[in-house]
Amino acid sequence: MLRRTLPALAILGLVILGAGPANAQPISADLVNPVEVAYADRVEKLSGKSILVFTPHPDDETFSMGGTLAVLAKNGNKITIVIYTNDNKGSLDQEMTSERLARIRRAEEEKACEILGIAQENIVWLGYEDGDLEYADPQRLRGEVARQIKIHRPDVVFSPDPGAKWEQWHKTDHRMSAFITKDAFIAAEWHLYYPQHLLDEKLQPYQVPLVYHYYSHEPNYEVDVTEVFDLKTRAAAAHVSQFEPSTSKYTPDMPELVAKEIDKGFRERNASNGRLVERFRREVAP
Ligand SMILES: [Zn+2]
Repeated sequence: MLRRTLPALAILGLVILGAGPANAQPISADLVNPVEVAYADRVEKLSGKSILVFTPHPDDETFSMGGTLAVLAKNGNKITIVIYTNDNKGSLDQEMTSERLARIRRAEEEKACEILGIAQENIVWLGYEDGDLEYADPQRLRGEVARQIKIHRPDVVFSPDPGAKWEQWHKTDHRMSAFITKDAFIAAEWHLYYPQHLLDEKLQPYQVPLVYHYYSHEPNYEVDVTEVFDLKTRAAAAHVSQFEPSTSKYTPDMPELVAKEIDKGFRERNASNGRLVERFRREVAP
């Protein structure tokens, strides 16, 4: 879910795409000590891999790494998106209900994924209420995430960065999902955590070999998404209810001007040396 403290359309590009105070959540911060990665191992070159993406809400991964998802899908990787919450609270429309908003957000996410080349059956909904992730039972939550890791046995995981500055970020679901995903890596590796996974479901332990953190304040790696950027901004615009005027009074239709502002805002935010990039903090065998 996006921050909505400044809903005016004229500042969509500035506010919705993450510019703001230094401690705000970045869509694309400057690179810090970039890592060298062999050509064949670069994200743009991955093919036939199992990719597991964790996202607090059905939109964070679109906004932060939609271009990377489009590249991975185009190159024949098996992508699974695991969504912690149903995002059913973020509406200013007083005629909206939580149940209806959850349905809207699900349909928008499915549409966005379709645009990026990800089938809706590859979306896993953990189903927590929007804003409640930090109030859920963390041991149970960690087990659910570890189970997804054991099921999908990912070559690469993408997840929000649980770096120190997350403590400053006010959005509870983002903070919790970042930390829980990381904790679940350990739980997935050792069979005596959640032994029922092996005993009841024959799910073997699994060690995550590589993770790319999005929403990072200290990214060390970037993916060139120039060629697929249209898909990213189209997918972003599929999240109609996250933008005005639909946030204040729900309508399934997005004015063309808003779609153009979204496209423009992302192009400004992701520009680097004449290319369009998405940045991550890369961590081997976390
Ligand atoms: Zn979110």
